[in-house]
Amino acid sequence: MSAAPDPAAFQAEPAAKALADRFAREFGTSLAGVWQAPGRVNLIGEHTDYNEGFVLPFAIDRAARVAVGPRADSTVRLLSTYGDQGTVTASLDSLEPGSAKGWTKYPLGVIWALRERGIDVPGIDLLLDSDVPLGAGLSSSHAIECAVVTALNDLTGAGLAAEDMVLATQRAENDFVGAPTGIMDQSASLRGAKGHAVFLDCRDQNASLVPFETEPAALVLLVIDTKVQHSHADGGYASRRASCELGAEVMGVKALRDLQVGDLEEASGLLDAVTFRRVRHVVTENDRVLQTVERLSAEGPGAIGALLDASHASMRDDFEISCPELDLAVDTARANGAIGARMTGGGFGGAAIALTPVAAEQAVRAAVVQAFAGAGFTAPDIFTVSPAAGARRVG
Ligand code: ADP
Ligand code: MG
Repeated sequence: MSAAPDPAAFQAEPAAKALADRFAREFGTSLAGVWQAPGRVNLIGEHTDYNEGFVLPFAIDRAARVAVGPRADSTVRLLSTYGDQGTVTASLDSLEPGSAKGWTKYPLGVIWALRERGIDVPGIDLLLDSDVPLGAGLSSSHAIECAVVTALNDLTGAGLAAEDMVLATQRAENDFVGAPTGIMDQSASLRGAKGHAVFLDCRDQNASLVPFETEPAALVLLVIDTKVQHSHADGGYASRRASCELGAEVMGVKALRDLQVGDLEEASGLLDAVTFRRVRHVVTENDRVLQTVERLSAEGPGAIGALLDASHASMRDDFEISCPELDLAVDTARANGAIGARMTGGGFGGAAIALTPVAAEQAVRAAVVQAFAGAGFTAPDIFTVSPAAGARRVG
């Protein structure tokens, strides 16, 4: 979070220093600071966010970092260490939805959203560096937005609370970038804490931290990036949302959040078969999130494996957002010692997670690589993540 700079942390974070040096070389203007915001993994609670339900993401130990300096004019200059777009220049006065291309729509969207809120964001120079893999379901785009909103909140002295920064980045995504996303990713990135997951009620944005530490339980959380491309703009996402809205309307509730597992029998009589399955996923997934929170608090991560498995089955069979690569990753991980596994993120590709005993990590990795090769799939990228701190100033 955008706390006052901690001088000790400033010394301790060499990545921030390296980025500051590079900023000086690239822009030659004066730097105000370096801020970072993590990507996130959703532990459980998929497609529940826009149904005003529950999600349980955590901030990961991979982050987007931005070095930012204010300018005296209304020019914005943006450069990423990734890709080959070079420095992109924009003018504050001509920012409008649809006006930006490529990665710059994320920082420009945040600037636009803050200005729409009446915050006097000046022209800036901004250098981005991120180790959140792109398009792997770890929200590399929100990591950028959250790093930028945290930086600009500090720089302008706007004093926004985390909830307001969540809403500003959501506005940037929805109205400037044009992606119909909820509040989960930003909430994890902005409100996460080391050794915790963020239990978020998407109806009222109430967030609380739930202990989630894998190390003491001799577990690791493996991310298996299938490298299959997904897209939120994809029709699959829109049609799932439409089914959920239809389900809520027919059932006479404001949102599917208002249905309980006990209401499903009635729903099965009122809804067509496909809409019913979509609704059943959301209703049971909300219930699984609540159970996961309880078990994490009472027993620790060793007790949540079956809930992760059930979540995957529900997404595969009821919500139908998995794909052969995700199913193979999950099944292979489970068959080789993971205690629970599920696809994570919006679906249709992206990554799976596998909660795995440390002793089985190498076996799971090897088996998944082998299974993908055997199936003729692109080799997956497999790495561990751990629950890390949320967005903050680092330099
Ligand atoms: P996800 O957020 O799940 O990783 P998205 O498709 O929403 O996937 O966001 C990926 C996009 O974010 C990329 O296409 C690119 O525009 C932008 N992006 C992410 N990281 C960087 C980076 N380091 N430099 C430039 N652009 C980036
Ligand atoms: Mg994204």
